[in-house]
Amino acid sequence: MEKIVSLAKRRGFIFQSSEIYGGLNSCWDYGPLGVELKNNVKRAWWRRMVQERDDMVGQDASILMHPRVWEASGHLEGFTDPLVDCKQCRQRFRADHVTGKTCPECGGELTEPRNFNLMFKTFMGPVEDQAAVVYLRPETAQGIFVNFNNILTTTRKRLPFGVAQIGKSFRNEITPGNFTFRTREFEQMEIEYFVKPGTDEEHFHKWVETRYKWYKELGISPERLRLRPHAQDELAHYAKACVDIEYYFPMGWSELEGIANRTDYDLKRHAEYSGNKLEYFDQELNEHYVPYVIEPSAGADRATLAFLLDAYHEEPDKDEIRVVLRFHPELAPVKVAVLPLSRKEPLTDMAKEISQELRRHWNTEYDDAKSIGRRYRRQDEIGTPFCVTVDFQSPEDQTVTVRDRDTMEQTRLSVAELVPYLREKLDN
Ligand code: ATP
Repeated sequence: MEKIVSLAKRRGFIFQSSEIYGGLNSCWDYGPLGVELKNNVKRAWWRRMVQERDDMVGQDASILMHPRVWEASGHLEGFTDPLVDCKQCRQRFRADHVTGKTCPECGGELTEPRNFNLMFKTFMGPVEDQAAVVYLRPETAQGIFVNFNNILTTTRKRLPFGVAQIGKSFRNEITPGNFTFRTREFEQMEIEYFVKPGTDEEHFHKWVETRYKWYKELGISPERLRLRPHAQDELAHYAKACVDIEYYFPMGWSELEGIANRTDYDLKRHAEYSGNKLEYFDQELNEHYVPYVIEPSAGADRATLAFLLDAYHEEPDKDEIRVVLRFHPELAPVKVAVLPLSRKEPLTDMAKEISQELRRHWNTEYDDAKSIGRRYRRQDEIGTPFCVTVDFQSPEDQTVTVRDRDTMEQTRLSVAELVPYLREKLDN
């Protein structure tokens, strides 16, 4: 993990938040390459889960919601972690993260566990009283349930159909850590997939498969990916089944995403608390019922971290170690770099013109600083799949070389062939 944290900072993927003030615990900023990577992760999710499917639509609900939402969802009452304090050094721990009754830091005595609600509380408007309390959402899912009728009437979708959403969530985690794995502000990619009761188990298994495939197809090594079904006593009281997709992070197997069969619990609770019916009219059966829901809930930051960790490779190259991020081309922050062999004018002019043309299609970098070997190294280290080199022959015959990040092979081709060649290789 240290190597990734250091590369992420050095190359501009992820910085500590408010670093010049000493940083803010567990808060991170995505830098110029990090924002491209994370956007590509979110885009790849949206593309496969929404755009390419006829049974899915998207939405973007607000972070602040009516406080009754959290009563109905059960978060106000039950979204808690057990907290213990050390009576000696005052450190706090999640009770289920410590064994025994002594502090893992100093050996002091621990207090009895008490429940700590993870929701961030704030006030809406100028008066800070109980009536003005609102919460920062701890998950995006509830924004979908409360819009169930709106989506149904505006899209006229038939079951089964799903609603997808990407957005920030906030949890006042007791022990955040492991870089961006567990933070207090993070982004989720969630789906609520509504199905006819009785077909829920079949859809649940399909979603587990679909989501597992998504990680694999975007390049996560299958041996670092596994499914972990929840035991019966681990399930939330309303859930019929839950499977976690886990990744082998440096700290061990940990959750990337959870897929749950939430039955009709959420829609029924919101119907009860809001006084609005949240039902589906089945034209074939000529009856109303409350759909069941399958929820694949992923973290955009955790997925980004997993893609970053999995892409990292060190390999011997002559007397040196070559560090290369073998990102899937769809996720690579920079798709192509244009490198003139020298800073001489006919070369730089031509290279600038080429990079301008490529920018119309892909995120492209132009780099003419330092030796060509160092520039290749830098592009390897940020995972750029292709480098286009403009050399002394280029202005004469309008050809360039294209270097492949993974094989390091160079292919000479004419400038006119460049876009179709890269399009085929990058597959977009
Ligand atoms: P954990 O057991 O790790 O706390 P969870 O089971 O509470 O996670 P869910 O409520 O199922 O998590 O949230 C769905 C997804 O949102 C998680 O699989 C994860 O990818 C992401 N996520 C949840 N909490 C955090 C967090 N504090 N920081 C970053 N991502 C998070």
